[in-house]
Amino acid sequence: MPRSESDPGCVAVLNAGSSSIKFALYELGTEGALLFDGQVERLGGAAQLKVSDQSGKSVAECSWPRGALDHHGATAEILKLGRSLLAGRRIAAFGHRVVHGGVKLIRPTRLDAGVLAELERLVPLAPLHQPHNLAPIGVIAQAAPHLPQIACFDTAFHRSQPALAQEFALPRALTDEGVRRYGFHGLSYDYIVTRLRESEPDVAGRRLIIAHLGNGASLCAVHDGRSVASTMGFTAVDGLMMGTRTGTLDPGVLLYLMEEHGYDASRLEDLLYRQSGLLGVSGIASDMRTLRQSGEPAAAHAIALFVYRIVREIGSLAAALGGLDALVFTAGIGENDAATRAEVVQGCAWLGFALDPARNDDGGGGQRRINAADARPVLVVPTDEERMIARYTSAAVLQEES
Ligand code: ADP
Repeated sequence: MPRSESDPGCVAVLNAGSSSIKFALYELGTEGALLFDGQVERLGGAAQLKVSDQSGKSVAECSWPRGALDHHGATAEILKLGRSLLAGRRIAAFGHRVVHGGVKLIRPTRLDAGVLAELERLVPLAPLHQPHNLAPIGVIAQAAPHLPQIACFDTAFHRSQPALAQEFALPRALTDEGVRRYGFHGLSYDYIVTRLRESEPDVAGRRLIIAHLGNGASLCAVHDGRSVASTMGFTAVDGLMMGTRTGTLDPGVLLYLMEEHGYDASRLEDLLYRQSGLLGVSGIASDMRTLRQSGEPAAAHAIALFVYRIVREIGSLAAALGGLDALVFTAGIGENDAATRAEVVQGCAWLGFALDPARNDDGGGGQRRINAADARPVLVVPTDEERMIARYTSAAVLQEES
């Protein structure tokens, strides 16, 4: 579809999670300006939609009664609102975060019936996320079948890992069936690496560990801008302790729970994904801010285990990299919680890391170096998965048009 001279068009990004859909509108172009962003939260509960313009000013707020809005309904509301916000400007394409691309879909891909069938086939590998990611795609395909939709995969960044890093010690037939390590948070890591290439080229080419510490948390070992290993594996429950997820757990624990306590799959899923992590260990909250503000010893204990697990996994990834040159913190906790950064870096002193406390405590936000003058680089780099999807979507559209 040719672009009009006067309006290059916009790119709409959707990032659908289990109970929310984040969305953003950008000018078309690899560095296209952000026009609006927002989210619908508490889907299935008392849903709320909020949208801000590029200056952060609120431009729309709506709420729905309990249970009135699911992912399909929310997408329809976002489309309706987007139309009114764009005031006659056209959308050139939609970009979607899709958690699982399997081993075949290793770069952003235009959706058609064949690709959609492949993504449906991958649902059993990510049953808690993939169906939510696919719901908006179906609604948009019905409402605007002529518009391109581009899927960007959380697994894709990790496909550069060596074969050994992607395997479990399982019989080959299971590996061949797809029971292997995929890794997630790839769009976040991809964004950080792109930012570092632009702003810190000396660091970008070295051996890094990027710590994506949010409600979901993982580490990625990166060498020369490519993923070498990561803490998440077959699912997003592996690796680090998270807000409500266990992270790595001896599989024997699952057998014990099944045999001694009669756990079935759905009870195990609830335990592994929703009742554990910071929430389960503290018995107080999954949210780092709440735990930091709590004076309870159980809160401090949960944070201590969270940090311990990160430091242990950094050691493992440093071995996979054959040495470590820099550490990067990102996502809600990594960007904002100076105490977690200080405790993690303290645990990595043996690797040559030390912080400049004043720089670490500077709550100014934005990208910054926080290491002591004579120590290896430690950076805070705010992540922006939606921006990464907008770039890929724009690139796909511009390539098709050229
Ligand atoms: P998600 O994985 O849902 O995208 P986020 O990246 O938004 O999660 O991270 C959420 C986590 O970040 C929560 O534990 C929250 O408490 C923490 N967080 C956000 N802001 C701060 C802050 N200022 N200080 C400490 N922790 C924070």
